[in-house]
Amino acid sequence: MLVGCPKEIKNHEYRVGLTPGAVREYVAHGHQVLVETGAGMGIGADDAAYQAAGATIAATAADVFERADMVVKVKEPQPDEWAQLREGQLLYTYLHLAPDPEQTKGLLASGCTAVAYETVTDDRGGLPLLAPMSEVAGRLAIQAGATSLQTANGGRGILLGGVPGVLPAKVAVIGGGVVGLNAAKIAAGVGADVTILDRSLPRLRQLDDIFNGRVNTRYSTLEALEEEVFGADLVIGAVLIPGAAAPKIVTRDMLSGMKKGSVIVDVAIDQGGCFETSHATTHAEPTYEVDGVIHYCVANMPGAVPITSTHALNNATLQYGLMLADGGLNAIAGDRHLRAGLNVHRGRITNRPVAEALGYEY
Ligand code: NAD
Repeated sequence: MLVGCPKEIKNHEYRVGLTPGAVREYVAHGHQVLVETGAGMGIGADDAAYQAAGATIAATAADVFERADMVVKVKEPQPDEWAQLREGQLLYTYLHLAPDPEQTKGLLASGCTAVAYETVTDDRGGLPLLAPMSEVAGRLAIQAGATSLQTANGGRGILLGGVPGVLPAKVAVIGGGVVGLNAAKIAAGVGADVTILDRSLPRLRQLDDIFNGRVNTRYSTLEALEEEVFGADLVIGAVLIPGAAAPKIVTRDMLSGMKKGSVIVDVAIDQGGCFETSHATTHAEPTYEVDGVIHYCVANMPGAVPITSTHALNNATLQYGLMLADGGLNAIAGDRHLRAGLNVHRGRITNRPVAEALGYEY
């Protein structure tokens, strides 16, 4: 198969669909790989690195879209890109179609076969191609929170780990899934006083085993939530109810009970956010203040660290990508996890929740 990798064109997107290491794997499987010139510059991989891995360099994105049997990307295709997709062509990337009727129409009209990273499943009921970005965002949330807590950035001026003789900052993590676990690891690692709140007792038991007393776990009743949020210097929002908008767990009224200059990092903002006062921000202007509380609500946090994020993403996407390249449509038909990833095929939506969310027939 001819596998194509165009340069990402979404605003401030520096990740790339294939690393040179991934290219080498596709080539070892007998495929040809065509990479747009400069596609890897955001991760420090120049054209020569891709050529050394066995890729051919294309001068334009149009060349990649025209020739590739399978297009591998990171972000959902932009209007210019979906106009270049065609019937019979495979697209393998994040799509997030449910809130995006325009892109959906574009993909349906193209006739392409699109596998969305975010709906591919695994044997444990997880979403293996979403998890690496949650790992990145969880870890980054503590860096973002620590920076926002500095006085010059509007924060209350407290160091997460404290110093000998001075107490550390208190960090409350709401939601102990992939984001929450990774946020807690970094916060505990720098010496903060960390509590994870969740509504799943089995998950709290697991977290208790993982941290072995280094992090507190607490069942998230309204009372527990208020105590932790009011006492915290940094609150991380990391809840997810799969397929649904994030529940508004911290209300506007609750902000008045929080410390002035405390910081909220609402990682769940891509699902609408779990703080009533959250609205999506960008890396260019990541924070704003409401009632003395600093809000950090960047919807594409992993984009800030494209080197780590691209390698983490490729580690997860490679295995399924090779299955697709090796087997084409047969691979999708023969594997229920890839089948779960199939969102669009020849002008039809092929994923039930996506179809229902957009009001299409399934
Ligand atoms: P996950 O499914 O692994 O974890 C979610 C956790 O929330 C679960 O443990 C669940 O029990 C818990 N939960 C659900 N409702 C709760 C409630 N009312 N109170 C307390 N806990 C509750 O999900 P994840 O991978 O950790 O992702 C969390 C969120 O972060 C998602 O919205 C995801 O889309 C988002 N995310 C954002 C970015 C970004 O750049 N902003 C990047 C990656 C992930």
